[in-house]
Amino acid sequence: MSILIIDDSLVSRTFISDLLNEVGYTDLTLCNSVEEAYQEIGFNEPDRTETDLDLILLDINLPGINGIDACREFSEHVVFCDVPIIIISGVDHLDGLESAFSAGATDYITKPPSHTELLARVRSALRLKTEMNRRKAREEDLLVLNERLAEMNRELERLSVTDSLTGLANRRSFNKFLSREWQREQRGKQPFSVIMIDIDHFKKYNDRYGHLDGDVCLQKVSWALQSALCRAGDLLARYGGEEFVAILPHTDVQGATELAAAFHARIQELALPHRDSPVSSIVTISVGIASVIPNQSLSPSQVVAMADEALYRAKQAGRNQSMIAATSTDSDQAPS
Ligand code: GH3
Ligand code: MG
Ligand code: MG
Repeated sequence: MSILIIDDSLVSRTFISDLLNEVGYTDLTLCNSVEEAYQEIGFNEPDRTETDLDLILLDINLPGINGIDACREFSEHVVFCDVPIIIISGVDHLDGLESAFSAGATDYITKPPSHTELLARVRSALRLKTEMNRRKAREEDLLVLNERLAEMNRELERLSVTDSLTGLANRRSFNKFLSREWQREQRGKQPFSVIMIDIDHFKKYNDRYGHLDGDVCLQKVSWALQSALCRAGDLLARYGGEEFVAILPHTDVQGATELAAAFHARIQELALPHRDSPVSSIVTISVGIASVIPNQSLSPSQVVAMADEALYRAKQAGRNQSMIAATSTDSDQAPS
């Protein structure tokens, strides 16, 4: 245990240090002033982050910085605030003790201290310090553990909303995003669009190139689709299998149709060979678009169903194209 003794009386310093030495406390630093002690322990070193000091025995009456001021400065110091301080006070200075305790002292002994009293106080202060060290270490362990848990939770949260193959939002986060945006749009009476995208003849792709290459195809298609989105409020998700869905808040049928055209263009640029496709020599997609102004009589799942139905018609009409869902005010149509 490391003990610092600050006392301007050589007799007192020697008495205390001899006694402590006798019982095995040999790591002692003796100083005759607070200033010297500060120097010795690096009190004013700005980059100091820890100390191995376990106890300070501090005389009250000192030249320069006195014991009470030193007490306060120790207890306000980020590094030394946890080191217990035992005040060594002459009997004629006992009235200064109250200030010493309110300045942060842990205990006191009167001069000249008796063997028994000094050792009892020192041992109990050191026990306190050991317990504090143990608690601090436990708290630090807990902090590290908490940080690790928080990190794992963040990762779990990320995994629970992400499709592992494509890195896109998964069906679960699609549902969440859809109902949240729908409610928001309902308040603002803004147009709202959903686009369903399905890879054409993907079963044949798997049959021809194998499931692993099928996975790579899904990844490339998803990234190409994602690259066509340019608004931060839009969401592209993997709806399931080889189907994707885009939610476009604040987007009318014209904006959605333009985006659908951009989807086709990006997939065409990818130019992934698909030898067995009856539609084209490269991978193509079919797209269904639904655009509505949200209202009480419509549900978001109805809009998704409308987009799905338009997608079905795009498939029926020969694939590699987009279809727009009919709303109550117009009839089925293909985009011009
Ligand atoms: P259509 O043009 O009518 O959409 O025909 P399709 O073959 O694309 O549609 P179908 O629904 O008949 O087949 C979809 C295929 O997608 C079958 C399934 O094995 C494949 N698939 C679904 N999920 C995955 C996946 O994660 N990886 C791979 N490699 N294939 C998948
Ligand atoms: Mg398909
Ligand atoms: Mg499908």
